[in-house]
Amino acid sequence: MIYFDNAASTPLFPEVVEEINNTMSHAFGNPSSIHSFGRTAKVVLEEARNIISELIHASPSEIVFTSGGTEANNMALWGCVHSYNIQHIITSRTEHPAVLKPIDDICKTLGVKLSFLSTDKNGQIALSELENILENENEPTLVSLMHANNETGLLLPLKDVSALCAKHNTFFHTDMVQTIGKFHINFKHIPVSFASCSAHKFHGPKGIGFLYINEKNKIKPYILGGSQERNMRAGTENVYLIAGMAKAIELCHNNMEETQKYITVLKNYTTEKLKEFEGVTYNASSDKGGLHTILSINFPELPQTEMLIQQLDIEGIAVSGGSACASGSFHSSHVLQQLNVKPDTPSLRISFSKYNTKNEINKFIEVLRKIVHHEKKN
Ligand code: PLP
Repeated sequence: MIYFDNAASTPLFPEVVEEINNTMSHAFGNPSSIHSFGRTAKVVLEEARNIISELIHASPSEIVFTSGGTEANNMALWGCVHSYNIQHIITSRTEHPAVLKPIDDICKTLGVKLSFLSTDKNGQIALSELENILENENEPTLVSLMHANNETGLLLPLKDVSALCAKHNTFFHTDMVQTIGKFHINFKHIPVSFASCSAHKFHGPKGIGFLYINEKNKIKPYILGGSQERNMRAGTENVYLIAGMAKAIELCHNNMEETQKYITVLKNYTTEKLKEFEGVTYNASSDKGGLHTILSINFPELPQTEMLIQQLDIEGIAVSGGSACASGSFHSSHVLQQLNVKPDTPSLRISFSKYNTKNEINKFIEVLRKIVHHEKKN
């Protein structure tokens, strides 16, 4: 079996499984309890917070553990709007639904003004348009733009956007679910108000993530009912998964450059190999750059390329279509529609991790040849 769907979720590092198992057996106490069992769990919790905050150059008090990226996004957006009387939200149509849906809900419920930035053929926003809007806005405003698009791998110029928002005293939330653990991030140098993270995208467990909240911002909690997480997120912390997440991010940072280089070679190799198939196109120029883990392609619409994902699955190869929720369907996702990809085009998102190999790519190409029967005749 070959797994090329790492943007949907990644296999756990064995060390993470070990860490979770160890924590389960020795730190089962409630971290809010004052006895020794509680204190043991609390130590695990705070050690994990220290590890994570150090790696992303934040302070421990800027990290709030959540159940994952979706909750972190909801918490940032609702929290910021409620706490700072936000009157205008600026975003793009290619954000993840975990951003688009809460924004839609906020704007409909509270009557907050909503602006979508226009995007070019790659889905990239124009800084000049954002600057123009911010210059003409005097009401409290929140910008939400993802660092890397989960379908195409397109990267936002994070430094520029954050600097622009800081210059205009505008709150800036960024969904970094696809990039934390893949790049060195320094929140001391990037003026972000809120950043969302999810462990299962970097070989950690599912159901756990965090929201980075810049210490300048004090937002109201999203989940009420307890004083955990310094009153920022009620509910007994999932100590096991938090320990696993800290281990995963630590391992990612230990050999980040090496992993980046290795995966980039795999992505370039795949791009090169795909040249033999006539009519293959790349979304968001993902063949030329963007996130090293994601290659987003379209096959020509042919009888053989119908149900391409299912055909690959039968052959033991797991890839995705537009996004995880759109898997198995060729109806182009909201992101691909924005890039003007024709609705019936067979699109594949091939997403890599350090566990993939060139041999797997060779096998993938071989299987594609068998399915597509559409090799270039030189
Ligand atoms: N944001 C992005 C960009 C994602 O890719 C995902 C997961 O697919 C999410 C948010 C949701 O994260 P989680 O699965 O941890 O809720």
